[in-house]
Amino acid sequence: MSRDALRLPVRAELAAERPYGAPQLDVPVLLNVNENPYPPTTEVVDAMAAAVREVAVGLNRYPDRDATALRRDLADYLGHGLSADQVWAANGSNEVMVQVLQAFGGPGRTVLTFGPTYSMYPQYARDTATRLVTLPREEDFTVASEAATAAVAAERPHVVVLASPNNPTGAALPLETIARICDVTRNAQAVVVVDEAYAEFRRAGTPSALSLLADYPHLAVTRTMSKAFALAGGRLGYLASSREFVDALQVVRLPYHLSSVTQAVARVALAHRDTMLARVQELRTERDVTTGWLREQGLTVADSDANFVLFGRFADRHRVWQELVWRGVLIRETGPDGWLRVSIGSADEMMAFKRALGEVLPQAQRLQEAT
Ligand SMILES: *Cc1c(COP(=O)(O)O)cnc(C)c1O
Repeated sequence: MSRDALRLPVRAELAAERPYGAPQLDVPVLLNVNENPYPPTTEVVDAMAAAVREVAVGLNRYPDRDATALRRDLADYLGHGLSADQVWAANGSNEVMVQVLQAFGGPGRTVLTFGPTYSMYPQYARDTATRLVTLPREEDFTVASEAATAAVAAERPHVVVLASPNNPTGAALPLETIARICDVTRNAQAVVVVDEAYAEFRRAGTPSALSLLADYPHLAVTRTMSKAFALAGGRLGYLASSREFVDALQVVRLPYHLSSVTQAVARVALAHRDTMLARVQELRTERDVTTGWLREQGLTVADSDANFVLFGRFADRHRVWQELVWRGVLIRETGPDGWLRVSIGSADEMMAFKRALGEVLPQAQRLQEAT
């Protein structure tokens, strides 16, 4: 039988799907997946290597299934009086979110979110056979409390997911909005998950939903070490909620899902949190400078509590993206039509971005005027 003729019994809803992911292109300036541009310091690299060496002698054994020490360290990092049994960890917050839908979603159940938002949510929903309802955010990319309340009543979701700070638009939701959604879901058999992947970058005076956990046992906050913590390659995401919420996730997790190596590396990163997070303030400043510069160019820019900025709008954003790639700068073609997203890199990388975009803009604006 020829390869072309080979038809495997893939689930019907997956048959036409392609693996999803941002293009991984080999260009000098990578500003497309919101990584922290600064690698770990030599001191931290050495500590990680030593920790891996230490666990390597026991790699014939399975890891601590409950990741107890790591969860204790994560609880300590988060503060807010959280204990280890209120914290859960997995291979990236992507895995945490899949576990949430495995535990609380599934066939016959609904997950509600507000878009434009994180492009992975549809995939988690699809893979867990959960019905996804994405309702539009407001013009300014916030979520109106009344609209959310009405949506909960109309759709009767089992899970509500709110990205805050939102990706790809950038801003965090006001705590009152999240509290309101927690209020209306409290007796409606729904859990609320606030995806705070970018929490450490939020602007001064922007609170975290962690401060609501004590009031709402059906609320969970997910975080990741992939962004501010500069550990995207380490694959460590986590969640904080009530003990009961974490207990539900433990039912669906794969046995030994978190390798000894991952646990050890993440613990070293947490022990060196001051070093790992040292550049966050610099990146926040660079973000605000970038926002200002883009606005000076006459572009529309969404406010950001994250380490990226969404800007536009272009009649042909793909062309702008492509012109930047040709100049060695990779950004992300995402978000509503006409917008582009740039991650905040080092000062040098942002200089390269501005230089390249400066060359492209006159042309791009003409395209915009042509429509
Ligand atoms: C980057 C990102 C994540 C993090 O994913 P990991 O699996 O932890 O690397 C989660 N949510 C949002 C909205 C993100 O942008």
